[in-house]
Amino acid sequence: MTSSPKALDQYRRIVIKIGSALLVDRSSGLKKAWLDAICDDIAALRAKGVDILVVSSGAIALGRSVLDMHAGALKLEESQASAAVGQISLARHWSESLSRTSIVAGQILLTLADTEERRRYLNARATIHQLLKIGAVPIINENDTVATTEIRYGDNDRLAARVATMTGADLLILLSDIDGLYTAPPHLDPDARFLEEISDITPEIEAMAGGAASEFSRGGMRTKIDAGKIATGAGCAMIIASGKSANPLKSISEGARCSWFAPSGTPVTARKTWIAGQLQPAGELHVDAGAETALGAGKSLLPAGVREVKGNFSRGDTIAVLGPQGREIARGLAGYDAEDARRITGRKSSEIEDILGYAGRAAMIHRDDLVLTETSRKPPSVSTKKDTAHA
Ligand code: GLU
Repeated sequence: MTSSPKALDQYRRIVIKIGSALLVDRSSGLKKAWLDAICDDIAALRAKGVDILVVSSGAIALGRSVLDMHAGALKLEESQASAAVGQISLARHWSESLSRTSIVAGQILLTLADTEERRRYLNARATIHQLLKIGAVPIINENDTVATTEIRYGDNDRLAARVATMTGADLLILLSDIDGLYTAPPHLDPDARFLEEISDITPEIEAMAGGAASEFSRGGMRTKIDAGKIATGAGCAMIIASGKSANPLKSISEGARCSWFAPSGTPVTARKTWIAGQLQPAGELHVDAGAETALGAGKSLLPAGVREVKGNFSRGDTIAVLGPQGREIARGLAGYDAEDARRITGRKSSEIEDILGYAGRAAMIHRDDLVLTETSRKPPSVSTKKDTAHA
């Protein structure tokens, strides 16, 4: 993993977040020329083999402009209605603009629960991956029409960061009307220094972003730093850059000023850390010695090695894997609901379709969704009393 910025075409998968002000003008509506230009930038990166995902704001702003709504703050139901009107138009514009370069757009609208709940998270991730696989560019926004205050992200910076971690992106670019992070708000403090590279989001860096109260005047820097914590913690670099120029991605590649946040790990280890860090496992799989050895060698957990399924979990829930001694040896995301897992326990993967009536996954827990727990890496001689008690 690199620890310094590199040219955009050197990244494998980039999530680009676009702020409302870049796309929508209050009086004239969608900024078509700007959208066409960034679609050209996207096409150029895709031609170099980079996967691109877009998190596009602008539904509420565009709906407001289409509906010619009043200028003041909107009530929740007004912004939801604006989003309903604006999103359909926003998606159409993206689709039309991208199709100029023969790229197909696919719309994804997410709510907070879609990224917090593991099963929905896995389903959303699978759809996004499928879109990328068929060569479409996912155009993502929060589903503002149904999300109420308690269950919404409310800002697309953090949503974009979750999308980046969910899809294993190696770069997140936040485009807005500010070109990066300063030591203090530049319009208030003449001594404010621009920060080009941030290797670690320390409490000092967080303080520079200010609190929620000053969010507006700092161009929403608070949510951008929050996004940086989510993304870099999962091994994804982040860039905050101005999107004011017509071809902002090209400009970044050509050296335009921006703030670059270094990733703190690799996507894989961060993802596994996320799995290991899940709260209470929803169930247990008790496995035989052969399966324990296979897991230790980095293999997936197949139904054949499972002896017993405990608990009532759903596919995608975090579950614990216990070895023949009764010790937890791994944690992972269930490939099957508990009921189906019980039916295929001890059976060969080739028998799954006959037993369940559908072709499920070959593994009970896929190795990408599995992490060995700390105790399983210790030699038997350091077993604790607790381990013995369990045995
Ligand atoms: N989801 C909102 C919209 O599309 C924007 C939220 C944000 O920009 O942070 O209007």
